[in-house]
Amino acid sequence: PTSTPDATGASPVMAQFFDAKARQPDALVFFRMGDFYELFFEDAQKAAAALGITLTARGQHGGQPIPMAGVPAHAMEAYLAKLIRAGFKVAVCEQLEDPAEAKKRGSKSVVRRDVVRVVTPGTLTEDGLLDARGANRLAAVSVRAGGAAVASVELSTGEVECLAVTVAGLASALAALGPSEVLVPDRLFADEAVSAALKGAGGFVQPMPSALAEPGASEARLKRLYGVETLDGFGQLSGAEVSALGLIAAHLETTQAGKLPALSAPRRAGEADVMVIDPATRTSLEIERTTTGSRDGSLLAAIDRTVTAPGARLLASRLARPLLDPAAIDARLDAVAWFCEHRAQRQRLREALKGMPDMARALSRLALGRGGPRDLGAVRDGLAIGEAVTELFASLRDPLVQPPEEVAQALRALTLPLHAELAAFRALLSEGLGDELPAQARDGGFVAEGIRPELDQARALRDDSRRVVAALEARLAGESGVALKIRHNAVLGYFVECTAKAAEPLMAPPLNATFIHRQTLANQVRFTTVELAELDAKIAQAAERALAIEIETFEAWREAATGVAAPIQAAAQAAAVLDVASALAEWADDVGATRPVVDRSSAFEAEAARHPVVEAAVRRAGEAFTPNDCRLDGAGVGAARLSIVTGPNMAGKSTFLRQNAILAVLAQAGCFVPAKRLRLGVVDRLFSRVGAGDDLARGRSTFMMEMVETAAILSQATPRSLVILDEIGRGTATYDGLAIAWACAEALHETNRCRALFATHYHELAVLEGRLAHVSNLSLKAKEWNGELIFLHEAGPGPADRSYGVQVAKLAGVPSPVVARAKQVLERLEKEAAGPANLDDLPLFAAVAEPEAKYGPSKTEEALAALDPDGMSPREALDALYRLKGLM
Ligand code: ADP
Repeated sequence: PTSTPDATGASPVMAQFFDAKARQPDALVFFRMGDFYELFFEDAQKAAAALGITLTARGQHGGQPIPMAGVPAHAMEAYLAKLIRAGFKVAVCEQLEDPAEAKKRGSKSVVRRDVVRVVTPGTLTEDGLLDARGANRLAAVSVRAGGAAVASVELSTGEVECLAVTVAGLASALAALGPSEVLVPDRLFADEAVSAALKGAGGFVQPMPSALAEPGASEARLKRLYGVETLDGFGQLSGAEVSALGLIAAHLETTQAGKLPALSAPRRAGEADVMVIDPATRTSLEIERTTTGSRDGSLLAAIDRTVTAPGARLLASRLARPLLDPAAIDARLDAVAWFCEHRAQRQRLREALKGMPDMARALSRLALGRGGPRDLGAVRDGLAIGEAVTELFASLRDPLVQPPEEVAQALRALTLPLHAELAAFRALLSEGLGDELPAQARDGGFVAEGIRPELDQARALRDDSRRVVAALEARLAGESGVALKIRHNAVLGYFVECTAKAAEPLMAPPLNATFIHRQTLANQVRFTTVELAELDAKIAQAAERALAIEIETFEAWREAATGVAAPIQAAAQAAAVLDVASALAEWADDVGATRPVVDRSSAFEAEAARHPVVEAAVRRAGEAFTPNDCRLDGAGVGAARLSIVTGPNMAGKSTFLRQNAILAVLAQAGCFVPAKRLRLGVVDRLFSRVGAGDDLARGRSTFMMEMVETAAILSQATPRSLVILDEIGRGTATYDGLAIAWACAEALHETNRCRALFATHYHELAVLEGRLAHVSNLSLKAKEWNGELIFLHEAGPGPADRSYGVQVAKLAGVPSPVVARAKQVLERLEKEAAGPANLDDLPLFAAVAEPEAKYGPSKTEEALAALDPDGMSPREALDALYRLKGLM
């Protein structure tokens, strides 16, 4: 592509373009020209290729045609979405005044334009560009003096968060946020730990000049962002935290051109507040997404019964970051429990919340100057629904059935009489805002009648004049005897139109004194009259005046909305909290989940527990899921904290392992759990190494990946952690693998001393039960019945007796001669169990004829049986012999 040339000699309009481009060199510049956004030079070429739109030329620069591509302004969102998804940034350069205003300054004046926004994945706020039920976070990473931090903002709601972590904790912290864009000071790309963390996080990585991350500059920017004199009000922020927040402030300054939503004070959490779940564990447990990346089939999708988009987002963020403080967890569980008890309230609440608009996102758009009357409508309707919700609960004045604190607090935030300014704002909107609302203020027609007398007058004048126009049409047609119509378009305004044939008398005397010719088209001729022109001007003026008043009113309301942003956000958040609590109760009732007990002990006692996702799948297949118990007690005398789990393939080992990890995630996120009973001592870190997911993209073999993840677990698991390990050592030779698995089990037991489930196909590990103090054996049972293998999916004490691998191979459709041969080899191996078997004296594979009879005749036998020697000529007999030989 041709690069953007030098600006020398540019026309005045192109000079504006060059100016915008110089300030946003790595973004595509969307340059507003009337009803279109136009792209020039290499931007045009890139956009044309990415969007599949036509590349043309417009005018010349430096003697060369200017490559140009354009998109209609009204369809901009769809094009933006495509470009952002393709990895581009887009700088939107708008017309800042009406062309008429520019003209007033002089005939040569051009319309003022400037970049009003740079669109990047993390700064989207349009409903059409966002997933309503998913967060869209912009994150920033910083490392200072050994400490690291991750800051994030959800621009569409204004939530700011900040997490101080160790460098090793960056990956988990980022993965918990799932940002769509991550800002990184460019010097950090040299840091291997940071690079690795970025890979696990996904999202668009945006390098930032390292100078922007300097603490002094960051602090100044943050103060400016929040309009505060000191950052002390945010608590003791670390250098890394200030720097990460400062990067976000810098990015918002350049991309949002000064317009910002009401940002919350940074909500801070530390590694001490949330369960650490690294990216590999998150993926393998399929918490928010399945391993293939879809939401369907994830834990989140299985338990999500929320009825609002903000509720869905809150649930996702809770599940992504389970808590550590039993009191905070209990507060959430109290709310769920209360909704389990009060079913009638729950149903009515859910019914009411269904209509709840996304107030938080609407409010942010308003604050960013991208909102319209519809967003005001969303706030008005949301507040009204919130009010209705509080009335639902007003019947509960009985002090014995007071809702728990989390519910009570949410109800207070929704009770408008408690927030005078908010109530006044709501009253303003319910009175002034119409019912049919356009997306953009410039479309007009949204201010109700009777609010602004000048507006009503202008509208009346406009509408009266329209009636006069209609009457004029009839009169002109009558007087001239010509079949004519009065029409309207944006260029001519009102005009008289008739067919070319009918127009002849209008162009001849005497009628040509009245009808002034304006335009001749292929079949039509257009005229005006003095009277019509006057009416047209009157109507246009009145309409313009009406629109100006509406836009002014909108601006006033918009400002009023930002003035009460805090209580609106609180109300929106409260509705989401109620949605989540009632939805979790709904789910608990649906699947029979119970309230877990979470404390500071080291208990893990699960009774009759189930895997919510596998259970749903098994049910769909018309079968029943077998509930299982699991006890991992670090404390009790002789209580095992490490369980060696054995059992044939397909017996349900992975399911059992994941199910127990998921119980911990659910319980600490404040959800009920699919179990008859669960008592859980808080888990500080959760690790899962399950299944052999190849990571070819990173160029590591499966075995290497497995060892990298195992190393991370062994170095990070604490006595409070929960570890599930599946088939460690599978990817290498038997003795290697066994040795590694053995050593890992010992290390978990002796060094990490964490609660762990260790699934293995090395039955040799069963002897650890006798050797180590806190190890027990557990197995998933299967039995052979009438030559068939039946999986009971039942976890019981003791190791598995056999692995049934040969039977599983048969179930999987391995050809019967191979299965038969495997049986023979196995028998021999088992006879010589004391060491590497001597396989030399086994009969050769080809000699195994007998099993064929068991599994039906072979092809050769079938062909032989079909022969009729008596009815064959010698020639045919010879042919048959050759055919038979060919079957060998
Ligand atoms: P393994 O890890 O032992 O090979 P999995 O955990 O992958 O076995 O389970 C295999 C299949 O068995 C699952 O896909 C599921 O259909 C079924 N299954 C597992 N656990 C149960 C259970 N507790 N009850 C019913 N079916 C189960």
